[in-house]
Amino acid sequence: MTTLTHIAVGAMIAKAALTGHKIEADPAVVYGVTIFFSNIPDMDIPLFGIRRAIALKWNHRIQSFFHFPLFWIILYLIVETLAPLNIRQTIEPYMTIALVSLGIHFLMDTTGVHSGICWFGPFIKKQFSFTRLINRPETIGTFVLTYCKSAVFKVEMLIWTGCVIYLLIKPV
Ligand SMILES: [Zn+2]
Repeated sequence: MTTLTHIAVGAMIAKAALTGHKIEADPAVVYGVTIFFSNIPDMDIPLFGIRRAIALKWNHRIQSFFHFPLFWIILYLIVETLAPLNIRQTIEPYMTIALVSLGIHFLMDTTGVHSGICWFGPFIKKQFSFTRLINRPETIGTFVLTYCKSAVFKVEMLIWTGCVIYLLIKPV
């Protein structure tokens, strides 16, 4: 799914954590963490450069280690076991919301148009998707057009609208 939807869902996770679960943490940092981790799997594109990515036909869902759930699980285990105690205590309140944000990103991207998720990447590159995948178009115009005509686009608009409504509702 697209960055705008990942941002909206990240903000919704933050609000849910702050209102429903009463997380003991700075609200601004909570929003920052959830929005950041809701988008970090796609961060190879700005780092790589959009023009370069298009020219090289870079498919970040298959080629970027940021987009492999196993990478984040291993990183989490490394932090939990090797990071100094003071660092672990500082990040502890944010660890769960960061993991939830990452998990929801991968779950959302499992509804794809041209690509799914390599849940077992980099070892197994099979793509999983709740929707039937179609071949990746050659041009960016066709890419955008097929996406806008897809059911994924409609689902994404529903998620985005739901998130915005949820964010506008004041907590009781
Ligand atoms: Zn993604």
